[in-house]
Amino acid sequence: MDIINLLSEKISNQIAAGEVIQRPASVVKELLENAVDAGATSIRVHIKDAGRSSILIQDDGSGMSAKDASICFTRHATSKLKDVEDLFKLKTKGFRGEALASIASIAHVTLKTRTNQQTDTGTLIEMNGGTPTRNEECICDKGTSIEVKNIFFNVPARRTFLKSDTAEFSHIRNEFERVVLAHTEIGFTLTHNGNEIHNVNPGNLRKRITDIFGIKSNEKLVPIEEKTDIVTIHGFVGKPESAKKSRGEQYFFVNQRFFKHSYFHHAVSKAFEQLISQNSYPSYFIYFEIDTEKIDVNIHPTKTEINFEEGKFIYSILLSSIKQALGKYNIAPSIDFELETSFDVPLSHKTEIPVEPEIKVDPNYNPFSKFGANKSSSTSSNKALNNQGFGKKSDSKEWENFYAIREENKESQTKLIEPEENYSKNKYLLKDRYLLSNVKSGILIIDTYRAKQRMLYDEMMQQFVTQPLAAQKLMFPLELALDQNEMDSWMDSNSLLMQLGFTFKIENKVFQLESLPACIIEKDCKSCIDGITKTLSSTQKPDKGELAHELISAIVYSASKATKLHSEQEIESFINLLFSCEDHSFCPFGKPIMQTLTIEELTTKF
Ligand code: ADP
Ligand code: MG
Repeated sequence: MDIINLLSEKISNQIAAGEVIQRPASVVKELLENAVDAGATSIRVHIKDAGRSSILIQDDGSGMSAKDASICFTRHATSKLKDVEDLFKLKTKGFRGEALASIASIAHVTLKTRTNQQTDTGTLIEMNGGTPTRNEECICDKGTSIEVKNIFFNVPARRTFLKSDTAEFSHIRNEFERVVLAHTEIGFTLTHNGNEIHNVNPGNLRKRITDIFGIKSNEKLVPIEEKTDIVTIHGFVGKPESAKKSRGEQYFFVNQRFFKHSYFHHAVSKAFEQLISQNSYPSYFIYFEIDTEKIDVNIHPTKTEINFEEGKFIYSILLSSIKQALGKYNIAPSIDFELETSFDVPLSHKTEIPVEPEIKVDPNYNPFSKFGANKSSSTSSNKALNNQGFGKKSDSKEWENFYAIREENKESQTKLIEPEENYSKNKYLLKDRYLLSNVKSGILIIDTYRAKQRMLYDEMMQQFVTQPLAAQKLMFPLELALDQNEMDSWMDSNSLLMQLGFTFKIENKVFQLESLPACIIEKDCKSCIDGITKTLSSTQKPDKGELAHELISAIVYSASKATKLHSEQEIESFINLLFSCEDHSFCPFGKPIMQTLTIEELTTKF
């Protein structure tokens, strides 16, 4: 018996749609690209319910004749590619003739289109899950408008797979922004449920970037420009001090097409090496113009990687042009290296907790107490670990180091921290950070930053459970350059943030901080805001407890820098406070708060 059938066009389109159209944002991308390819000068995008109910894209481009309109939903129908050679000369975004067929097979689509030659009427086509239901003349503007409704209505599995409206809309906005940044010569609008999100007129690149990311971004842009026989590079990189804690504004375009390229990304990172701290990311908007034959865009429709024939050469040109630009604008000397690198705390702890070795620590022991109270040592490794905050998982590398240190000091931890008789006279604060004290077997060194982190963390966590944290109102609202996604994530967690002492407003796409948790000094709030923003906009939404842990960790991280200990009294009460913390041996990030330098260790140094 023969069992092989040819799949119907409808089914094969649906299968193809599974690859090309993964979510509403993929429809937006494809339709935007078609409008750009049609030579539009103005493109309007209207979204309802994050694209679930409707995606409407209107352009003033070439339009389609009645015949073209009736075949544009057929698979492999394209006006952009005629033979194989064309593949290497592509100037258009699309060329596969797959998008419209795929979209039509999984949604209700209405197309209205009119060419310049058609004076009065254009064509209206309706498709219902891949089946044409209307094809007639209609009155419409020149250009094309396509409305895609009820996406995945016939693929329920896909529909349920969609994320929250916020998440889906942020995908849409990302796709939109990529096209908008690539085509400064075109005007765009984006609305969501009737609210205007973007409205940008044709203009230069600097204007476009500030239109999208807010006027504040203007002063942070450093231009780059390089012309060689092989490639022309232009665009902007963000000043190092504007580097963010999350990878947000990083854009490469080649011949007005957005792409990702880890190798070129490395070049940018290298140019910024030593100018920014390890866990922050520079912004960049970098545009390459290159002979189309020297790149391979014959890629999977949803992939954004592009192969370059002369990748190595471009890498070095890119690196040197950014370095030059940063040098020219005299960026480097203004950086405070010490501040940036001295304090390296991971804010996210994602991997599993490794098996815990036995460690002997006495949590009640205060080395500064004259009476050396509670000398009995207990096995409290669990406490040390669990007090990371809500039982958070921690970075395994971090923990390896942590154990290495702990194992080394295992012996010393219980015995060595015995104070000298005259200990109180023998405290010394080094570099405003390290508190040195004589103990029986050597020198005890307390990292006051980490100690402060522990104290603040415990205090805030405890307080947070019962009441909102104390806030300080700022005299003038503090404007911060957050992108739209970041602002949205702040909005989403508004009530939690209020409990933590943050209030803010967003006006004209500018984020304004109105109050801060009382424990942060305004000067230090930027890194804290960065940390919080990173946490909030990470795609895996942590639960309330985890979020509180992350936020409080971020607050604690920046607030601890503000520690100033002046008098002996201050030092004394600081130490008392530290030792009243249940876990005074480790900071909330799992790093040791204190170390001892034994007499033997000292002796080996001489
Ligand atoms: P591709 O873009 O790969 O050619 P699509 O399925 O996206 O394939 O579109 C099929 C064809 O329909 C295009 O090649 C183009 O000729 C026509 N088309 C699609 N959208 C538009 C539009 N907005 N304006 C004019 N023509 C369009
Ligand atoms: Mg297309």
